[in-house]
Amino acid sequence: MKIKLKHKLIFGYTTLILILIVILAVTSSNVFIKNFNEYVNHNREKEIEYILNQVTTIFVVEEEPSYEDFYDLGVAALDKGLILMVNIDLSNQLICMSDVFPNESSEMLLKMEETLESVYPHFQGEYKEEQYVIENDGVYYGYVTIAYYGPLYYTEFDALFLKAVKNTILLTGLIFFIISGVVVYFLATKLSEPISKVSKRAEEIGMGNYKESIKIQSSTEEIQNLINSINTLGKNLDNQQQIKKQMSVNYTHELRTPITCVLTTIEGMKDGVFEITDERLESLYSEVERISKMVAGVDKLVETSVDEIVLQKENFDIKCLIENCVNSFESLYENKNIKLVFKKSEITDCTINADKEKIKSLVGNLLSNAFKYTDNSGKVEITLEAIKNKFIIKVLDNGIGIEEEEQELIFEQLYRVEKSRVREVEGFGIGLSICKNIVLAHKGTISVKSKLGVGSEFIVEIPKGEIV
Ligand code: ADP
Repeated sequence: MKIKLKHKLIFGYTTLILILIVILAVTSSNVFIKNFNEYVNHNREKEIEYILNQVTTIFVVEEEPSYEDFYDLGVAALDKGLILMVNIDLSNQLICMSDVFPNESSEMLLKMEETLESVYPHFQGEYKEEQYVIENDGVYYGYVTIAYYGPLYYTEFDALFLKAVKNTILLTGLIFFIISGVVVYFLATKLSEPISKVSKRAEEIGMGNYKESIKIQSSTEEIQNLINSINTLGKNLDNQQQIKKQMSVNYTHELRTPITCVLTTIEGMKDGVFEITDERLESLYSEVERISKMVAGVDKLVETSVDEIVLQKENFDIKCLIENCVNSFESLYENKNIKLVFKKSEITDCTINADKEKIKSLVGNLLSNAFKYTDNSGKVEITLEAIKNKFIIKVLDNGIGIEEEEQELIFEQLYRVEKSRVREVEGFGIGLSICKNIVLAHKGTISVKSKLGVGSEFIVEIPKGEIV
């Protein structure tokens, strides 16, 4: 059986609190009762001591004390639960309060028993007598017997006081339990609510609803991280979905035009509508070539995809590699009157351990893009820097630039900025995905800084690798 987190927290914490309250209440009431009993016994001893002192004084003052001399003391003792008996010797008893007040004495003992049993239902008490010899300065006067209900006796007031204390402890425990119950309920709700929202949101994401996001904020760091992660997950999946949609639109768009063109031309030729001329064959050839290039591009993309890529690493001079690339692009750039500059910083050792062909393809793609998206008479600058254990290649152009919201999308497969299509620049949205795959395979990074209408800068960071 699955229990909700909130219920689990409430049940767990309230049980724990209840156990703690019970332990606390039992311990404190036991300690209190123990001390109270000691206090009651101490009081009885003090009382007995007082009676003995009084009896001694009476013996000392009165040469021959009589029954009347002890009567008041006996009555006062009876009030406090003690039965006084004074003897000179075995055959000569001066006073015995249980004989003077037989009914009151037995009633008093009975009352003591009842009072104690009302506090301790199974209390094992009994009638007790204690004897004391009365003497002063070595002179023997007689002896006193004091009877009471023992080993412990409570007056009515003691029992009431004890009950009040027990009730207070019980009430305090109850109030504490209610308050902590409310606090636990509040905390459990506060803790479980965002978690159940996250879990509900994860379910929605699983069902393909990526758009929403969790709005609530949590003061618990881990929970806030969880909320942020699930929101980011939804956002990323939504982006991926958009990219996939865009990809299929791009695919069909890129393929539809040449295929329709080839089909209608061939149909026209077949039906004799179009004459088979060299120009028509040339145009058909260029359309088929375009389709073939696109398929080759997709092949290359698959080849460099992170799961498939195999790096043939070797040591080579990256400065030379860039120089060669720049040289091979020079005539192309000249046709458009674009100035291509390679700015080499003073790096003494430009050796890198990487896949030479793939790095060449990376630099080539960036230079090709800079060429495609820069107007005539523009300027493209490629720089090479070395920082610590990595090389940084930057390709800067003053071309058309990329809108901010498009910048993170252009590295996705088959993603083309709408405007580049409008401008009818040839391309399939594959080049930068290949670049990204190559860079990732080398454990590097690729990023872009761009401003629409101003230009773009592509920044690649590649580790130097272990030079062997
Ligand atoms: P494409 O074949 O369309 O050039 P890429 O993957 O190389 O595909 O580039 C993706 C998109 O990024 C392009 O459609 C283009 O809009 C944009 N882009 C790439 N490089 C640049 C650049 N240097 N300047 C402006 N836009 C660029």
